[in-house]
Amino acid sequence: MSKKIPVRRCVGCQEMKGKKEMIRVIRTPEGDFLLDATGKKNGRGAYLCPSRECLDKARKNKGLERSFKQAIPKEVYEALEKEMEDIDGK
Ligand SMILES: [Zn+2]
Repeated sequence: MSKKIPVRRCVGCQEMKGKKEMIRVIRTPEGDFLLDATGKKNGRGAYLCPSRECLDKARKNKGLERSFKQAIPKEVYEALEKEMEDIDGK
């Protein structure tokens, strides 16, 4: 029996990729949004490629808004962009 690799759709570029190649954006039960590089945090999640480009696309196409069914404040995007730069910029 071959194991299926779980794939997720990037809310930015809409490509399907393996869960492990992606980064989760989660909303905590407290209503905070953050990047979950480890995939271990609790909360409702959306998936993004670990790139600034996909975050920009998600911002433009409102992919995160759709995933979380709510407006995403611009402060959240700014914080996510900062975090993404740390992850992406290597
Ligand atoms: Zn992507």
